Amino acid sequence: MEEELMQIKNSAVSMIIEAVDQKELEEIKLQFLGRSGRLTLTLKEITKLPKEKRPEIGILANDVKRVIEETLENQMSNLKSQKSHEIKKRIDTTAPGIKPNLGHLHPMTQVLYEVVEVFKSLGFQAADGPEIETDHYNFEALNIPKDHPARDTQQTLYLDTRNSKVTPGDIILRTQTSAMQGRIMEKVKPPLRVIVPGKNFRYEQVDASHGFEFWQVEGFLVDTNVRLTDLFGTIDYVLRKLMGKDVKLKFATTNFPFVEPGVDTYISCTVCGGRGCSFCKYSGWSEIMPAGMIHPNVLKAVGYNSQKVSGFAFAIGLSRLVTLRYQMDDLRLLTNPDMRILEQF
Ligand SMILES: [Zn+2]
Repeated sequence: MEEELMQIKNSAVSMIIEAVDQKELEEIKLQFLGRSGRLTLTLKEITKLPKEKRPEIGILANDVKRVIEETLENQMSNLKSQKSHEIKKRIDTTAPGIKPNLGHLHPMTQVLYEVVEVFKSLGFQAADGPEIETDHYNFEALNIPKDHPARDTQQTLYLDTRNSKVTPGDIILRTQTSAMQGRIMEKVKPPLRVIVPGKNFRYEQVDASHGFEFWQVEGFLVDTNVRLTDLFGTIDYVLRKLMGKDVKLKFATTNFPFVEPGVDTYISCTVCGGRGCSFCKYSGWSEIMPAGMIHPNVLKAVGYNSQKVSGFAFAIGLSRLVTLRYQMDDLRLLTNPDMRILEQF
């Protein structure tokens, strides 16, 4: 019996030490300590021994069992640490990783931030406004009553108000950021200097230099003694800051109902260098910044005394500014999600 126990111990220990994985260890455990394992069966035999022999063999049997269990446990943890070591060897944690693709600001946003900075340096504050606007702020408050022909130049997208209490035609997608003039001036007393960057929408034929959705930066200033030359000076300063000091500008008179007089600012086309291209409609110039002195009717509509204060307003065609800045010959490139285009900025 003693000899058999020693044999069990020796063969179990040597098998355990040679085991290469957990599965093999489980099998060995079953083979010796399981219900019909070799040691278990031997232990049952002890009861058949003479009484005086039993304690001595019992102690020896327990010892064998303890040794097998301990060896099993040790080998189990050895295999585990060996495995993690092997994984570490396979993964070189010091090797340089794969760089994730980093995004960057869209060229439109980059230029917008620059525009805001330039105006901030002139004391302007930036405001935000709703893209869904009322007819009142988009047209009426800007001296464009319902029957005014100027409405024809701003093909308007109307919201479906059939199942609401809103009068049909009252809620629109704003056609110009100028809609914010009324909203702000109603709340703030002059002097004020404000810019409103934002998206506008018009029902327009899309081409290289027109989009149905386009960005503008509206701006207006109201104070005492504001003159047309202040407007010229501001436009000149801002556009040279944004487009370089050598940029060629020209002003022309124009007519917008919310300004008097109205001024149109043209910039020499940077796409073709002024020679003429499809972007500038072969004129060599691109309209960039309509402006003018705020019409007294607009000032009166918000409760200002047009005898005491005056002001100017302008709107930079931001989408067009970006295309001219980067010499893109098509406005539609700005809304194209193609990474080959965006990665160039
Ligand atoms: Zn051109």
